[in-house]
Amino acid sequence: ALPQVLSYAAFAADKPLAPFTFERRQPRSDDVSIEILYCGVCHSDLHSARNDWGMSQYPVVPGHEIVGRVTSVGDSVVRFKAGDLVGVGCMVDSCRTCSACKDGVEQYCLEGFTMTYGGEDRQDGTMTQGGYSDAIVVSEHFVLQMPDGIDLASAAPILCAGITTYSPLKHHGVGKGHKVGVIGMGGLGHMGVKLAKALGAEVTVFTRSDAKVEEAKRNGADHVVVSSDQGQMDAVAESFDFMLDTIPVQHDLNPYLTSLKYDGTHIIVGLLEPIEPAIEAFNLVFKRRVVAGSLIGGIAETEELLKLCAEQGITCDIEMLDIHKINEGFERMEKGDVRYRFVIDMATLKN
Ligand code: NDP
Ligand code: ZN
Repeated sequence: ALPQVLSYAAFAADKPLAPFTFERRQPRSDDVSIEILYCGVCHSDLHSARNDWGMSQYPVVPGHEIVGRVTSVGDSVVRFKAGDLVGVGCMVDSCRTCSACKDGVEQYCLEGFTMTYGGEDRQDGTMTQGGYSDAIVVSEHFVLQMPDGIDLASAAPILCAGITTYSPLKHHGVGKGHKVGVIGMGGLGHMGVKLAKALGAEVTVFTRSDAKVEEAKRNGADHVVVSSDQGQMDAVAESFDFMLDTIPVQHDLNPYLTSLKYDGTHIIVGLLEPIEPAIEAFNLVFKRRVVAGSLIGGIAETEELLKLCAEQGITCDIEMLDIHKINEGFERMEKGDVRYRFVIDMATLKN
Protein backbone atom coordinates (compact mmCIF):
# COMPACT_ATOMS: atom_id res chain seq x y z
CA ALA A 1 0.00 0.00 0.00
CA LEU A 2 1.12 3.57 -0.65
CA PRO A 3 1.80 5.77 2.38
CA GLN A 4 -1.36 7.63 3.49
CA VAL A 5 -0.79 11.27 4.37
CA LEU A 6 -2.91 13.65 6.44
CA SER A 7 -2.97 17.25 5.24
CA TYR A 8 -4.86 20.50 4.78
CA ALA A 9 -5.75 21.39 1.21
CA ALA A 10 -7.45 24.13 -0.78
CA PHE A 11 -10.30 22.70 -2.86
CA ALA A 12 -11.38 25.91 -4.62
CA ALA A 13 -10.26 29.54 -4.82
CA ASP A 14 -13.18 30.78 -2.72
CA LYS A 15 -13.29 28.01 -0.09
CA PRO A 16 -11.34 27.69 3.14
CA LEU A 17 -8.64 25.03 3.41
CA ALA A 18 -9.94 21.75 4.83
CA PRO A 19 -8.54 18.37 5.93
CA PHE A 20 -7.51 16.04 3.12
CA THR A 21 -6.07 12.52 3.06
CA PHE A 22 -4.01 11.40 0.07
CA GLU A 23 -1.23 9.03 -0.96
CA ARG A 24 2.42 9.89 -1.49
CA ARG A 25 4.29 7.99 -4.18
CA GLN A 26 6.03 4.72 -3.44
CA PRO A 27 9.59 5.83 -2.54
CA ARG A 28 12.13 5.37 -5.37
CA SER A 29 15.75 4.34 -4.93
CA ASP A 30 16.95 7.98 -4.73
CA ASP A 31 14.09 9.10 -2.47
CA VAL A 32 14.17 10.33 1.09
CA SER A 33 10.96 9.80 3.12
CA ILE A 34 10.40 12.56 5.64
CA GLU A 35 8.10 12.98 8.62
CA ILE A 36 7.22 16.69 8.60
CA LEU A 37 7.65 18.52 11.91
CA TYR A 38 7.17 22.16 10.86
CA CYS A 39 6.08 24.08 7.80
CA GLY A 40 6.21 27.84 7.27
CA VAL A 41 3.25 29.71 5.76
CA CYS A 42 4.36 31.75 2.74
CA HIS A 43 2.27 34.33 0.92
CA SER A 44 2.73 32.16 -2.19
CA ASP A 45 0.66 29.50 -0.40
CA LEU A 46 -2.16 32.01 -0.18
CA HIS A 47 -1.73 33.06 -3.84
CA SER A 48 -1.92 29.37 -4.85
CA ALA A 49 -4.91 28.52 -2.66
CA ARG A 50 -6.78 31.52 -4.09
CA ASN A 51 -5.61 30.85 -7.65
CA ASP A 52 -4.17 34.40 -7.91
CA TRP A 53 -1.90 33.27 -10.76
CA GLY A 54 -4.62 31.32 -12.62
CA MET A 55 -2.69 28.04 -12.66
CA SER A 56 -3.85 26.23 -9.52
CA GLN A 57 -5.13 22.68 -9.94
CA TYR A 58 -7.20 21.57 -6.98
CA PRO A 59 -6.83 20.12 -4.48
CA VAL A 60 -3.69 22.06 -3.56
CA VAL A 61 -1.75 21.12 -0.42
CA PRO A 62 0.42 24.22 0.04
CA GLY A 63 3.68 24.55 1.96
CA HIS A 64 7.30 24.88 0.83
CA GLU A 65 9.15 25.75 4.02
CA ILE A 66 9.36 22.19 5.28
CA VAL A 67 11.47 20.83 8.12
CA GLY A 68 11.30 17.23 9.22
CA ARG A 69 13.00 14.00 10.19
CA VAL A 70 14.07 11.30 7.76
CA THR A 71 12.10 8.09 8.30
CA SER A 72 13.71 5.99 5.55
CA VAL A 73 15.90 6.30 2.47
CA GLY A 74 16.11 4.47 -0.85
CA ASP A 75 19.00 2.17 -1.80
CA SER A 76 20.97 4.76 -3.76
CA VAL A 77 20.70 7.60 -1.21
CA VAL A 78 24.12 8.53 0.18
CA ARG A 79 23.72 11.90 1.93
CA PHE A 80 20.95 11.01 4.39
CA LYS A 81 19.90 8.28 6.78
CA ALA A 82 16.88 7.64 9.02
CA GLY A 83 16.78 10.11 11.90
CA ASP A 84 18.50 13.01 10.09
CA LEU A 85 16.90 16.46 10.39
CA VAL A 86 16.29 17.87 6.92
CA GLY A 87 14.55 20.62 5.01
CA VAL A 88 12.65 20.89 1.74
CA GLY A 89 12.10 24.26 0.08
CA CYS A 90 10.24 25.34 -3.05
CA MET A 91 11.71 22.77 -5.46
CA VAL A 92 11.58 18.97 -5.49
CA ASP A 93 13.12 18.27 -8.90
CA SER A 94 14.55 19.75 -12.12
CA CYS A 95 16.07 18.32 -15.32
CA ARG A 96 19.51 18.22 -13.62
CA THR A 97 21.38 18.38 -16.93
CA CYS A 98 20.78 21.85 -18.44
CA SER A 99 23.19 24.75 -18.01
CA ALA A 100 21.14 26.28 -15.19
CA CYS A 101 21.00 23.01 -13.25
CA LYS A 102 24.73 22.48 -13.79
CA ASP A 103 25.36 26.03 -12.54
CA GLY A 104 23.46 25.29 -9.33
CA VAL A 105 20.53 27.56 -10.15
CA GLU A 106 17.97 24.79 -10.50
CA GLN A 107 15.20 27.36 -10.04
CA TYR A 108 16.03 28.59 -13.56
CA CYS A 109 16.11 25.04 -15.04
CA LEU A 110 15.60 25.43 -18.79
CA GLU A 111 12.87 22.78 -18.70
CA GLY A 112 11.24 24.37 -15.66
CA PHE A 113 11.85 23.09 -12.14
CA THR A 114 9.29 20.93 -10.34
CA MET A 115 7.51 22.93 -7.67
CA THR A 116 7.09 21.36 -4.23
CA TYR A 117 3.34 21.70 -4.68
CA GLY A 118 1.29 22.39 -7.77
CA GLY A 119 4.03 20.84 -9.90
CA GLU A 120 4.02 17.71 -12.01
CA ASP A 121 6.23 14.79 -11.04
CA ARG A 122 8.77 14.30 -13.86
CA GLN A 123 8.44 10.50 -13.82
CA ASP A 124 4.78 9.67 -13.23
CA GLY A 125 3.07 12.99 -14.03
CA THR A 126 1.15 13.16 -10.74
CA MET A 127 0.64 16.52 -9.02
CA THR A 128 3.09 17.33 -6.28
CA GLN A 129 1.65 18.27 -2.88
CA GLY A 130 3.35 20.39 -0.26
CA GLY A 131 4.17 20.62 3.39
CA TYR A 132 0.85 21.26 5.13
CA SER A 133 0.96 17.51 5.65
CA ASP A 134 2.58 14.94 7.91
CA ALA A 135 4.96 13.32 5.43
CA ILE A 136 6.68 13.91 2.09
CA VAL A 137 8.87 11.89 -0.28
CA VAL A 138 11.61 13.85 -2.08
CA SER A 139 14.56 12.94 -4.28
CA GLU A 140 17.85 13.22 -2.39
CA HIS A 141 19.28 16.07 -4.46
CA PHE A 142 16.46 18.39 -3.36
CA VAL A 143 16.68 17.55 0.34
CA LEU A 144 18.64 19.98 2.50
CA GLN A 145 20.75 19.16 5.52
CA MET A 146 19.68 21.15 8.59
CA PRO A 147 22.80 22.36 10.43
CA ASP A 148 23.40 20.95 13.93
CA GLY A 149 21.87 23.00 16.70
CA ILE A 150 19.68 25.22 14.51
CA ASP A 151 16.19 25.83 15.96
CA LEU A 152 14.06 23.82 13.55
CA ALA A 153 10.80 25.76 13.72
CA SER A 154 12.37 29.18 13.30
CA ALA A 155 14.68 27.90 10.57
CA ALA A 156 11.81 26.66 8.38
CA PRO A 157 11.18 30.06 6.72
CA ILE A 158 14.83 30.24 5.65
CA LEU A 159 13.87 27.66 3.01
CA CYS A 160 11.78 30.19 1.08
CA ALA A 161 11.61 33.63 2.73
CA GLY A 162 15.30 33.49 3.61
CA ILE A 163 16.73 32.19 0.34
CA THR A 164 14.44 34.37 -1.80
CA THR A 165 15.88 37.50 -0.23
CA TYR A 166 19.46 36.24 0.19
CA SER A 167 19.91 35.04 -3.40
CA PRO A 168 19.35 38.42 -5.12
CA LEU A 169 21.37 40.29 -2.48
CA LYS A 170 24.30 37.96 -3.19
CA HIS A 171 23.77 37.98 -6.94
CA HIS A 172 23.88 41.78 -7.08
CA GLY A 173 26.90 41.93 -4.80
CA VAL A 174 25.22 43.77 -1.95
CA GLY A 175 27.66 44.50 0.85
CA LYS A 176 29.38 47.12 2.93
CA GLY A 177 28.82 50.66 1.73
CA HIS A 178 25.52 49.87 0.02
CA LYS A 179 22.22 51.38 1.01
CA VAL A 180 19.37 48.90 0.66
CA GLY A 181 15.64 49.56 0.94
CA VAL A 182 13.40 46.63 1.85
CA ILE A 183 9.78 47.20 0.85
CA GLY A 184 7.11 45.37 2.91
CA MET A 185 7.87 44.06 6.37
CA GLY A 186 6.43 40.56 6.15
CA GLY A 187 7.94 37.09 5.95
CA LEU A 188 10.34 37.88 3.11
CA GLY A 189 10.91 41.49 4.18
CA HIS A 190 12.00 40.77 7.73
CA MET A 191 14.50 38.19 6.47
CA GLY A 192 15.66 40.65 3.81
CA VAL A 193 16.49 43.12 6.58
CA LYS A 194 18.45 40.59 8.62
CA LEU A 195 20.34 39.20 5.63
CA ALA A 196 21.18 42.58 4.06
CA LYS A 197 22.52 43.63 7.47
CA ALA A 198 24.52 40.40 7.72
CA LEU A 199 26.09 41.26 4.34
CA GLY A 200 27.12 44.66 5.70
CA ALA A 201 24.58 46.98 4.04
CA GLU A 202 22.79 49.95 5.59
CA VAL A 203 19.11 49.00 5.57
CA THR A 204 15.92 51.03 5.40
CA VAL A 205 12.51 49.41 5.73
CA PHE A 206 9.55 50.76 3.76
CA THR A 207 6.30 49.85 5.51
CA ARG A 208 2.70 51.04 5.38
CA SER A 209 2.40 50.53 9.08
CA ASP A 210 3.39 52.99 11.84
CA ALA A 211 3.16 50.03 14.22
CA LYS A 212 6.06 48.28 12.48
CA VAL A 213 8.51 51.22 12.77
CA GLU A 214 9.97 50.32 16.16
CA GLU A 215 9.78 46.60 15.43
CA ALA A 216 11.72 47.03 12.20
CA LYS A 217 14.47 48.79 14.13
CA ARG A 218 14.52 45.98 16.67
CA ASN A 219 14.94 43.64 13.72
CA GLY A 220 18.10 45.48 12.77
CA ALA A 221 16.84 48.12 10.30
CA ASP A 222 18.89 51.32 10.44
CA HIS A 223 15.99 53.48 9.23
CA VAL A 224 12.28 53.14 8.55
CA VAL A 225 10.14 55.01 6.01
CA VAL A 226 6.36 54.95 6.35
CA SER A 227 5.45 54.67 2.68
CA SER A 228 2.06 56.38 3.03
CA ASP A 229 3.79 59.54 4.30
CA GLN A 230 4.74 61.61 1.25
CA GLY A 231 7.14 63.76 3.28
CA GLN A 232 9.08 60.71 4.37
CA MET A 233 9.16 59.37 0.79
CA ASP A 234 10.39 62.73 -0.57
CA ALA A 235 13.13 62.81 2.04
CA VAL A 236 14.70 59.61 0.68
CA ALA A 237 14.62 60.46 -3.05
CA GLU A 238 17.74 59.21 -4.89
CA SER A 239 19.15 57.53 -1.78
CA PHE A 240 19.43 53.81 -2.41
CA ASP A 241 21.67 51.43 -4.34
CA PHE A 242 19.13 48.61 -4.17
CA MET A 243 15.48 48.14 -3.37
CA LEU A 244 14.13 44.72 -2.50
CA ASP A 245 10.41 44.77 -3.24
CA THR A 246 8.36 42.08 -1.44
CA ILE A 247 4.86 43.58 -1.82
CA PRO A 248 2.45 40.76 -2.78
CA VAL A 249 -0.10 42.90 -4.67
CA GLN A 250 -0.07 45.32 -7.58
CA HIS A 251 1.47 48.65 -6.63
CA ASP A 252 3.06 51.70 -8.19
CA LEU A 253 6.80 51.16 -8.66
CA ASN A 254 7.51 54.77 -9.65
CA PRO A 255 7.77 56.27 -6.13
CA TYR A 256 10.26 53.53 -5.23
CA LEU A 257 12.26 53.92 -8.46
CA THR A 258 12.79 57.60 -7.71
CA SER A 259 14.18 56.57 -4.31
CA LEU A 260 17.07 54.84 -6.12
CA LYS A 261 20.34 56.60 -6.90
CA TYR A 262 21.51 56.65 -10.52
CA ASP A 263 22.54 53.09 -11.48
CA GLY A 264 20.32 51.77 -8.69
CA THR A 265 18.50 48.46 -9.01
CA HIS A 266 14.93 47.68 -8.01
CA ILE A 267 14.66 43.93 -7.35
CA ILE A 268 11.16 42.48 -7.50
CA VAL A 269 10.54 39.30 -5.56
CA GLY A 270 6.85 39.86 -4.76
CA LEU A 271 4.65 38.08 -7.25
CA LEU A 272 2.26 40.80 -8.23
CA GLU A 273 1.11 40.45 -11.80
CA PRO A 274 1.18 42.40 -14.07
CA ILE A 275 3.00 45.57 -12.96
CA GLU A 276 0.48 48.41 -12.94
CA PRO A 277 0.39 51.36 -13.19
CA ALA A 278 3.07 51.54 -15.87
CA ILE A 279 6.70 52.30 -15.11
CA GLU A 280 7.61 55.76 -16.35
CA ALA A 281 10.51 55.47 -18.79
CA PHE A 282 11.96 58.72 -17.47
CA ASN A 283 12.38 57.12 -14.06
CA LEU A 284 14.67 54.50 -15.63
CA VAL A 285 16.37 56.29 -18.50
CA PHE A 286 17.45 59.50 -16.81
CA LYS A 287 19.21 57.65 -14.02
CA ARG A 288 20.25 54.41 -15.77
CA ARG A 289 18.18 52.52 -13.23
CA VAL A 290 17.43 48.81 -13.55
CA VAL A 291 14.33 46.82 -12.66
CA ALA A 292 15.20 43.19 -11.91
CA GLY A 293 13.45 40.06 -10.69
CA SER A 294 14.63 37.07 -8.72
CA LEU A 295 13.26 33.62 -7.98
CA ILE A 296 14.07 31.70 -4.75
CA GLY A 297 17.63 30.26 -4.84
CA GLY A 298 19.52 27.11 -5.79
CA ILE A 299 19.98 24.04 -3.61
CA ALA A 300 23.67 24.63 -2.83
CA GLU A 301 23.01 28.30 -2.12
CA THR A 302 20.17 27.35 0.26
CA GLU A 303 22.46 25.01 2.19
CA GLU A 304 25.07 27.80 2.28
CA LEU A 305 22.43 30.13 3.76
CA LEU A 306 21.30 27.58 6.36
CA LYS A 307 24.92 27.30 7.51
CA LEU A 308 25.37 31.07 7.57
CA CYS A 309 22.21 31.50 9.66
CA ALA A 310 23.32 28.77 12.08
CA GLU A 311 26.80 30.28 12.45
CA GLN A 312 25.63 33.87 12.87
CA GLY A 313 22.54 33.05 14.93
CA ILE A 314 20.18 34.53 12.34
CA THR A 315 16.66 33.23 12.93
CA CYS A 316 13.22 34.04 11.59
CA ASP A 317 10.68 35.67 13.89
CA ILE A 318 7.85 33.19 13.96
CA GLU A 319 4.42 32.60 15.44
CA MET A 320 3.58 28.95 15.89
CA LEU A 321 0.29 27.99 14.28
CA ASP A 322 -2.12 25.12 14.96
CA ILE A 323 -2.89 23.71 11.51
CA HIS A 324 -6.61 23.75 12.29
CA LYS A 325 -6.28 27.58 12.40
CA ILE A 326 -4.68 27.85 8.97
CA ASN A 327 -7.60 29.84 7.53
CA GLU A 328 -7.29 32.45 10.29
CA GLY A 329 -3.58 32.46 9.60
CA PHE A 330 -4.21 33.24 5.92
CA GLU A 331 -6.57 36.09 6.87
CA ARG A 332 -4.01 37.61 9.18
CA MET A 333 -1.27 37.27 6.58
CA GLU A 334 -3.44 39.04 4.04
CA LYS A 335 -3.75 41.97 6.47
CA GLY A 336 0.03 42.10 6.99
CA ASP A 337 -0.64 41.12 10.61
CA VAL A 338 2.01 38.41 11.20
CA ARG A 339 5.20 38.84 13.21
CA TYR A 340 6.67 37.79 10.78
CA ARG A 341 6.00 34.25 9.70
CA PHE A 342 3.50 31.62 10.78
CA VAL A 343 5.05 28.20 11.18
CA ILE A 344 2.68 25.26 11.48
CA ASP A 345 3.43 22.80 14.25
CA MET A 346 2.61 19.61 12.39
CA ALA A 347 1.96 17.72 15.65
CA THR A 348 -1.37 19.62 15.75
CA LEU A 349 -2.50 17.75 12.62
CA LYS A 350 -3.21 14.68 14.76
CA ASN A 351 -5.47 16.56 17.22
P1 NDP B 1 3.80 38.59 3.60
O1 NDP B 1 2.34 38.69 3.51
O2 NDP B 1 4.42 37.90 4.77
O3 NDP B 1 4.48 40.05 3.55
C1 NDP B 1 4.20 40.97 2.55
C2 NDP B 1 4.30 42.39 3.14
O4 NDP B 1 4.01 43.30 2.09
C3 NDP B 1 3.31 42.67 4.23
O5 NDP B 1 3.76 42.32 5.51
C4 NDP B 1 3.13 44.17 4.10
O6 NDP B 1 4.18 44.87 4.77
C5 NDP B 1 3.28 44.40 2.61
N1 NDP B 1 1.95 44.44 1.99
C6 NDP B 1 0.95 43.54 2.09
N2 NDP B 1 -0.14 43.92 1.43
C7 NDP B 1 0.16 45.10 0.89
C8 NDP B 1 -0.57 46.02 0.09
N3 NDP B 1 -1.85 45.79 -0.24
N4 NDP B 1 0.07 47.15 -0.31
C9 NDP B 1 1.32 47.42 0.08
N5 NDP B 1 2.05 46.57 0.85
C10 NDP B 1 1.48 45.44 1.23
O7 NDP B 1 4.28 37.90 2.24
P2 NDP B 1 5.64 37.12 1.91
O8 NDP B 1 6.75 37.90 2.43
O9 NDP B 1 5.46 35.70 2.27
O10 NDP B 1 5.63 37.15 0.31
C11 NDP B 1 5.70 38.38 -0.39
C12 NDP B 1 5.57 38.14 -1.86
O11 NDP B 1 6.71 37.44 -2.35
C13 NDP B 1 4.36 37.29 -2.27
O12 NDP B 1 3.83 37.83 -3.47
C14 NDP B 1 4.96 35.94 -2.54
O13 NDP B 1 4.21 35.16 -3.43
C15 NDP B 1 6.28 36.35 -3.14
N6 NDP B 1 7.31 35.32 -3.11
C16 NDP B 1 8.20 35.32 -4.13
C17 NDP B 1 9.21 34.41 -4.19
C18 NDP B 1 10.20 34.47 -5.27
O14 NDP B 1 10.92 33.50 -5.48
N7 NDP B 1 10.36 35.56 -5.96
C19 NDP B 1 9.33 33.37 -3.15
C20 NDP B 1 8.40 33.52 -2.07
C21 NDP B 1 7.41 34.45 -2.07
P3 NDP B 1 3.90 46.24 5.60
O15 NDP B 1 2.78 45.88 6.56
O16 NDP B 1 5.21 46.47 6.23
O17 NDP B 1 3.52 47.29 4.62
ZN1 ZN C 1 7.42 30.85 -0.41
